[in-house]
Amino acid sequence: MSTPPIKQKATILQIIDQAELVKTFRLKLEKPLSFKPGQFITIFAGNGPAAGAGAASPAPAKAYSISSPPRKDYIDITVKMVGRFPEGVFAKLKVGDAIEFLGPSGVFVFDKEKTKKPVFLAAGIGITPFMSMLEYIKSNGLETHAVLFYSNRTVAGVAFLKRLEELDGDNIKIVNSITRETPAQWKGELERINMGMIRKYVDVSDKDCTFYLCGSADFVRELVQQLMDSGVEQVRIIKEEF
Ligand SMILES: Cc1cc2nc3c(=O)[nH]c(=O)nc-3n(C[C@H](O)[C@H](O)[C@H](O)COP(=O)(O)OP(=O)(O)OC[C@H]3O[C@@H](n4cnc5c(N)ncnc54)[C@H](O)[C@@H]3O)c2cc1C
Repeated sequence: MSTPPIKQKATILQIIDQAELVKTFRLKLEKPLSFKPGQFITIFAGNGPAAGAGAASPAPAKAYSISSPPRKDYIDITVKMVGRFPEGVFAKLKVGDAIEFLGPSGVFVFDKEKTKKPVFLAAGIGITPFMSMLEYIKSNGLETHAVLFYSNRTVAGVAFLKRLEELDGDNIKIVNSITRETPAQWKGELERINMGMIRKYVDVSDKDCTFYLCGSADFVRELVQQLMDSGVEQVRIIKEEF
């Protein structure tokens, strides 16, 4: 169960280098947070040196998906360190610093009662809500059969690569794709996610399959179009744009 969003303080417990320009911020919570995998929190810039009203200043608050599964003591958010808010706010944070956030929010959630066969389609930092969903499926031993398609330009940019390799197993299939290089010994795909690739692993006409998309607006728009052109009904498509 998730609760209505509330404002609370958190302390930075750990900062983890996840990939090139991608960092995970582990937040120790003041109060336990009840949320569903896929939901996000809104982080406030606060009154630090980065806050201000100039064009180069970060917005007063920005949304970040929770990248860890529901648990009581901490949550993770994982940030691509590019842009005004990441560079103006996150880049200045140190372990022990306090931040304020509002959450949880959002309807881009994995519902184990309704979704038998989730197909997750992620580009770049759009992986974050799916990490929460996949860890939730794994840690609860759900029978759900999930497939993740995850596209990045380079191997160095693939966040959570090692953890995803560990998650790949009986009921979770991970399909990594790299689009701007051909790494030696790469076992994954080498093109942008497309219907040909999806059909290799998924029967798209199976009514039990629900497609979850997360990434840039262009990524989401293009793939929604391809899914609909392939006969996937709108009710089986759920999306979040970053
Ligand atoms: C529901 C939701 C969940 C989100 N979850 C996450 C999450 O889990 N992790 C995450 O990192 N973000 C997430 N975002 C995006 C986040 O809220 C910020 O928009 C993002 O961190 C960029 O910060 P900004 O808006 O201040 O960037 P701006 O400075 O306003 O830049 C706008 C865009 O341009 C890009 N950009 C800026 N400068 C450059 C540059 N030099 N080179 C290339 N691109 C550039 C930025 O990446 C950004 O996408 C989420 C957004 C939403 C709506």
